[in-house]
Amino acid sequence: MGKATGFLEYSRKENPFRDAGERLHDYADLHTAQGTEERHCQAGRCMNCGVPFCQSSFGCPLHNLIPEWNDLLWRGEEREALERLMETAPFPEFTGRVCPALCEKACNLADDGVTNRDNELYLIEKGFAESWVRPRLPRERTGKRAAVVGSGPSGLATADLLNRLGHSVTVFERADRAGGLLMYGIPNMKLPKDIVARRIRLMEEEGVTFRLNTEADAEALEKFDAVVLCGGARKPRSLNVEHMDAEGVRFAVDFLSETTGKLLAGEDCNLAKGLHVLVIGGGDTGNDCVGTVLRQGCASVTQLEMMPAPPEFRTAGNPWPEWPRTLRTDYGQLEAICVQGSDPRIYETTVKRILTDEQNHITGAETVKLRRTAEGKMEPIAGSEQTLACELMLIAAGFVGCDGKTLETLSLIADGRGRLMPEDSSHYLGGKLFSAGDMRTGQSLVVRALADGRAAALEADALLRRA
Ligand SMILES: Cc1cc2nc3c(=O)[nH]c(=O)nc-3n(C[C@H](O)[C@H](O)[C@H](O)COP(=O)(O)OP(=O)(O)OC[C@H]3O[C@@H](n4cnc5c(N)ncnc54)[C@H](O)[C@@H]3O)c2cc1C
Ligand code: SF4
Repeated sequence: MGKATGFLEYSRKENPFRDAGERLHDYADLHTAQGTEERHCQAGRCMNCGVPFCQSSFGCPLHNLIPEWNDLLWRGEEREALERLMETAPFPEFTGRVCPALCEKACNLADDGVTNRDNELYLIEKGFAESWVRPRLPRERTGKRAAVVGSGPSGLATADLLNRLGHSVTVFERADRAGGLLMYGIPNMKLPKDIVARRIRLMEEEGVTFRLNTEADAEALEKFDAVVLCGGARKPRSLNVEHMDAEGVRFAVDFLSETTGKLLAGEDCNLAKGLHVLVIGGGDTGNDCVGTVLRQGCASVTQLEMMPAPPEFRTAGNPWPEWPRTLRTDYGQLEAICVQGSDPRIYETTVKRILTDEQNHITGAETVKLRRTAEGKMEPIAGSEQTLACELMLIAAGFVGCDGKTLETLSLIADGRGRLMPEDSSHYLGGKLFSAGDMRTGQSLVVRALADGRAAALEADALLRRA
């Protein structure tokens, strides 16, 4: 059970990111190497609680066996700890880098929770370095063929489990590289692309086939015994203002994908160089845009958020072990503070008008302050308009569902929220079709997409074994 008095003797110590001033000059991993002794002590803080909320549905969606692998890590049995972790976590090198660590906030140590995410990253990187992570091949093949449409985290998790269960799996991906938003979306510094490519290579060695640059159509899917749709929920929410077609107004994921594409091609990436940038949306995607444009040498970056700033501490309506809806300042915002001297976020503000020149290039934005009405809606405050210079506007205002092309080709209809969510909340769409990940649930988190992909794989496996 870790060290009986570990949580009293050792204080929580996260593995620090590289210094903001240094990391701004490159797109390399934010994470620094982790010390063995430190990680062993941190794992020793785990109390092996009678009711481990960290692995309950308040905590890790994968239900990782957190107290068990923390105990093994504390004892120095690292290889066994990694094996225990990998019983439920398909790709700890992704979650160890990008997971918001729901488990840590659900930990009985509350705000002082055990550093599970850092411990997880330590274990998996040690596993790769020591060649403990090797291709795991199924004992026998079932002779059944499964197709997975989309190679984001949900598609990879589905393919991984179906392959382990002995089915022959082909993943269709319309992009030129596998990984979905892990490859083209989440920026390189948060998740280096060689880490994604390393996992894809391993899955190929385990027998999964990837068909890249391939749009999955009805004809191609005909020959499979089961098909799991994992196409994501990438349709971006737009702004209800004129001049959305102006040069310099872009959706965040398009911009982030282009940046990654250029970096992978070894090209200079100066898309925001010298420009005043406005990021619309105060969430995580907006934060990724802030970090990215700073690396490209923008003249300034400002992030607009419609809603009021969250409280500093939990409110009575948001108790432990729920995820705390409190103010977080993420890596991009910290970098902006380092460069510009202040937080880039402006709350309770939105864009009223996009200003353009004769060539239809964006030159600025008229913003307006908002206030919450008694009914809880945000309404503009007359007379609060302001003009901000802007030559690049990145829209990071959320997503409204899965893309119409896949639905059209397979004659499917999404629900009112743009999701392929069956009425009984299962993953089964009828015939031999299943859905998983953001396509089923709407935009979410990598760890939730992984858990959903594994759940869909089990449902598809049951159908394949019956057929
Ligand atoms: C900028 C950004 C940053 C994020 N950062 C984080 C983070 O730090 N932590 C976190 O937990 N979550 C983060 N998320 C959310 C997370 O990335 C998603 O929830 C997750 O990737 C969803 O996985 P998915 O497999 O369902 O879909 P996706 O990752 O979107 O993958 C879907 C794939 O399907 C392919 N596809 C679609 N239709 C077809 C078709 N017909 N044929 C072939 N291929 C097709 C697409 O090309 C795509 O590659 C972020 C999201 C964004 C946009
Ligand atoms: S995947 Fe996320 S929630 Fe689960 S143990 Fe790892 S950090 Fe915690």
